[in-house]
Amino acid sequence: MIPIYQPDLSGNEKKYLIECVESTWISSKGKFIDQFEEKFVEFTKADYATSVNNGTVAIHLALEALGISAGDEVIVPTLTYIASVNPIVQVGAIPVFVDSLESTWQVDPEDIRLKITPKTKAIMVVHLYGQSAEMDSIMQIAHEYNLLVIEDCAEAFGTFYKGQHVGTFGDVGTFSFFGNKTITCGEGGMVTAKDKAVYEKMKHLKNQGVSAEKQYWHDVVAYNYRMTNMQAAIGLAQIERAEEFIARKKEIAELYKKYLADSSVTVHAQQPETIHSYWMTSILVKDARDRESLRDFLKNEGIETRPLFYPVHTMPMYETQENFRIANSLGGRGINLPSWPGLTNEQVVYICEKIKKYFAL
Ligand SMILES: *Cc1c(COP(=O)(O)O)cnc(C)c1O
Repeated sequence: MIPIYQPDLSGNEKKYLIECVESTWISSKGKFIDQFEEKFVEFTKADYATSVNNGTVAIHLALEALGISAGDEVIVPTLTYIASVNPIVQVGAIPVFVDSLESTWQVDPEDIRLKITPKTKAIMVVHLYGQSAEMDSIMQIAHEYNLLVIEDCAEAFGTFYKGQHVGTFGDVGTFSFFGNKTITCGEGGMVTAKDKAVYEKMKHLKNQGVSAEKQYWHDVVAYNYRMTNMQAAIGLAQIERAEEFIARKKEIAELYKKYLADSSVTVHAQQPETIHSYWMTSILVKDARDRESLRDFLKNEGIETRPLFYPVHTMPMYETQENFRIANSLGGRGINLPSWPGLTNEQVVYICEKIKKYFAL
């Protein structure tokens, strides 16, 4: 079976992990945490960054630190992973869904405009599958209406918009290092901030709200969202090879494009003035009825795939009668293909041949 993803842990991961065990620094203190955070800032050029234990709490922490709370509305694309939305509800705010663009699969700036009300506090941008959202338009809207911007970059490590890494446009950016993300810690996350005060607040909240002056004195209801030195050890080994991973993922995406050029599926494309990091190379079938049967066909040929995200507004907790035409259409027609750096060219060609064979049947 060709898996949809498999992390490459053949660098310094083992060495650094052994160092954690042998030094006994296995908990949320230790040198790898600082080193990983430093390297992350170097890579993304974020003003500030602090590590957390996964990409979901990164979003929760960001919302809390920005003061988003009961009654506030947060605009979020319905075509996203569930973790972009749940933390909005968990801080007491209301997610307001918007549609996506057919061309990019990213949030539709015009629909954002239509959904703004006096209660709107923030826009949650999600850079889906490694492509960047239209940041110029989104930042323009945020500026016009004085809204906060949170960028969910869980799928967009290595993604750039007009030369700038995503997660550095808005007030905060959040990242995930789950096992199948572009770089991994096993589980892990990062939050970036533009403003030092927001960064300090995130550090305070992730660490039980402990006072900086007095040990075991806590001045706010807070959390334990700290990353461990072992997670950071893996993260550091991964980020040392980030350029290599991303370059290979792009090569794989180009290969898919080349071999699927004469097929009836469309490959998610890089947009002008952006760098797509191709977390997942993804395709669209023309007719939604082919989606599951193509996936079944590929499964029988030993190829694991994933469906594009089901739009969140179709799930029981978030069900609404509103129609999100593009998100529904993309969500019903999209497939993520195996996209990990260790895939061989032969495997990619094999996958493309099988996709074409399905449509020739
Ligand atoms: C993976 C992911 C998250 C959550 O990250 P975890 O580390 O799994 O908690 C959030 N948003 C998006 C878009 C993701 O893909």
